Amino acid sequence: MDNAATTPVDEAVFESMRPFLTEKFGNPSSIHFFGQEARGAVDQARHQAASILNADPKEVVFTSGGTESNNLAIKGLAAKQAPDGGHIITSKLEHPAVISVCEDLAGKGYEITVVEAGPQGVVSAAEVAGAVREDTFLITVMTANNEIGTIQPVKQIGRLVADIRSKGRKIWFHTDAVQAIGKIPVDVNEIGCDLLSFSGHKIYGPKGVGGLFVRRGVRIAAQSLGGHQERETRGGTEAVANIVALGKACEIAEEGFLSASKSTAAIRRGFEDFVLSEIEGTKLNGCPERRLPNISNIAFQGVEGEGLLINLDMQGVAVSTGSACSSGSIDPSPVILALGVPEDLARGSVRFSFGKFNSADDLDYLKEVVPRAVENLRKLSPGYQSAPGS
Ligand SMILES: *Cc1c(COP(=O)(O)O)cnc(C)c1O
Repeated sequence: MDNAATTPVDEAVFESMRPFLTEKFGNPSSIHFFGQEARGAVDQARHQAASILNADPKEVVFTSGGTESNNLAIKGLAAKQAPDGGHIITSKLEHPAVISVCEDLAGKGYEITVVEAGPQGVVSAAEVAGAVREDTFLITVMTANNEIGTIQPVKQIGRLVADIRSKGRKIWFHTDAVQAIGKIPVDVNEIGCDLLSFSGHKIYGPKGVGGLFVRRGVRIAAQSLGGHQERETRGGTEAVANIVALGKACEIAEEGFLSASKSTAAIRRGFEDFVLSEIEGTKLNGCPERRLPNISNIAFQGVEGEGLLINLDMQGVAVSTGSACSSGSIDPSPVILALGVPEDLARGSVRFSFGKFNSADDLDYLKEVVPRAVENLRKLSPGYQSAPGS
C-alpha cells in the first residue's frame, strides 16, 4: 500500500531488460555491432517514452531518475537562461527534489516565490499568474502531488506561460510528472510545458532511471559533463538495460493505464469508504475529486502516523507518512501542513497508495487490520476521547 514510494518491477519489464544485462552488453557509442545493437535498443526506448508523453523522441533525455530530472531541468535552465539570477515560481506541494533545488538556487542569488497549496492541495493558477514578475524565467509546478495525489492546473499554467511568451518575454515551464504518468493522461502539448520529469520505478520499472522531456528549441546546460550522450545534455554512458526497461514500462503504462487506473481506483474507493464511515475521527487530506486514482491520505485523530505505520508494518502492510524522501524527519509533512491541517492531525496522517498489483484480498485484509491498529493506538493515547455513545 505504498506504491507512491515505489512499485514492483513488472515481469515483462524485467524480461525486456535482461538481455542487456547479459549478452547484449554493448556501449551505444561504439560503432561496431555490439554498440549499434545497444544504440537501437536505446532509440526504441526513446520512442516508447516519447509516445506516452506525446513528445518527439528527440525531446527525451534519459537520466538516473526523477530527482536528477528535476535537478537537470531547474539548474540546467537557470545556468543557461538566467546565469546572473532571476525569479522562479514554485509551489508548497513540490517534492523535495524540486524544493531543495529551489532553496539551493535561493542561496545563490535567485529569488523564489512559493505559492500556497490551498486547503484542498490544489495550486491556484491565478495565484501563479499573480506571482509572475518582470524577471520570472521559470515556473515549476508538479502535475500531481505524491502525498495527497491532487492534480494541479498545469494546463492553465501552460496557457499562462504561452500568453506571457507571446508578449516577447522569455519564460519556461517545468512540471514534475513523476506521479502522474501511467495514472492520468500526460500530454506535453496539452500541458504546454517546456520541461517534464518522469521516473521508472513509479511506473513498474526499475529504480535509478528516469527521463526529462526537453521541448525542441529549449536550451538547458548539462549538469554532468563528459561525452556527447543525450544530445550533449547529459554526459555518461547510457544505462542501457535500465533505459530499455523504462521504455517498456512506458509502453505498458500507455496501453494499460485506463484499466490499471480503474482497478486501483476501485480498491481505493472501497478502502476510503470503509475507513471514513467505519472509523470515527478520520478525515481525508486533500481534494476528493481532483486527484490521482491511487492515493488516499487520511488523518487519524488521536494517532501518531509513525505509530500506525509501525503497527501496520508488523502485520505486513506497508504505508507511509509524508514523502519517502523526507521520512526519517520527525516533523509532520510540510505538504499536509500546507493544507492548513492542524499539527496534531498532520502528525496523525498516513498515506495509503495503491497499485495495479493490489488485489481485492489486500483490501479485505486492510479492512481487518487498520481499524484494530487505530483502536489499539488510541487506547494508548491519553488525549483521545471517543465520541459519546460510540
Ligand atoms: C519519487 C518522486 C520523485 C523522485 O524520483 P526518483 O526516481 O525516486 O528520484 C520526484 N518527484 C515526485 C513527485 C516523486 O513522487
